[in-house]
Amino acid sequence: PAGLYFVGTPIGAARDITLRALDVLASAEVIAAEDTRSLRHLLDIHGIPLEGRRVLAYHDHSGAGARAKLLDALAEGRSVAYASEAGMPLIADPGYELSKAAAEAGYMVTTAPGPSAALTALTLAGLPTDAFFFAGFLPNTRSARKTRLEALRDVPGTLVFYESPKRVAETLSDMSAVLGGSRPAALCRELTKKFEEIRRGTLDSIGASVADTAVRGEIVLLVDRARSEPVKETDIEQSLRDALESHSV
Ligand code: SAM
Repeated sequence: PAGLYFVGTPIGAARDITLRALDVLASAEVIAAEDTRSLRHLLDIHGIPLEGRRVLAYHDHSGAGARAKLLDALAEGRSVAYASEAGMPLIADPGYELSKAAAEAGYMVTTAPGPSAALTALTLAGLPTDAFFFAGFLPNTRSARKTRLEALRDVPGTLVFYESPKRVAETLSDMSAVLGGSRPAALCRELTKKFEEIRRGTLDSIGASVADTAVRGEIVLLVDRARSEPVKETDIEQSLRDALESHSV
């Protein structure tokens, strides 16, 4: 049926695509992608013919023109599929402006969901998942990065960051400085791929391991929430005595 379909694509293993996502890609009248080459490649792997359909390039800053084209197709009652280069669209990837515009215009908006590096990493990191905060990529300059980390210091959930291998050592050292080096953390690398690796420890210990051996590939960093030191029983007794004394006449 007519409408906009956000399609989740694999984050490493080509077979991590759902049957429904393949159905949507096989039947959509208009196909748009963040990276048209990688989508053509994915369609090729799964034997989905394009049959005269064009693959349009779209990302949120490719300008209002590209978005207008897709909205026009929706206005004509067509089905439009949109996929990212990897993982879920809109998650540290384009699609938000398109989703918003299509919903505001009243078109049917739905998704054939797939994997996302953030959720995959949370499954493996060994950190609490009852509450988490997706922080995406940190800013490029060191001072802006530290300011952002300061704002995240007291978030009551596991922090999830996307990071590049080139910058990860510097980021871990900033995190240790701002969040405290003893915080439990995990570095998840090359998820779902041949060299998948999870390093679990603290910000300091993972920072040291990264300084020893350079890391390559795609990375998700996770950091436990701030935990206040448990109050010692003797401290409680002392505080009670202090309180009683200060109230005695
Ligand atoms: N939309 C994607 C998603 O749903 O996860 C994220 C796209 S974002 C532009 C790319 C970043 O996601 C990478 O730099 C890395 O931090 C993370 N990432 C993507 N695939 C990954 C993988 N297989 N293993 C670890 N991190 C990955």
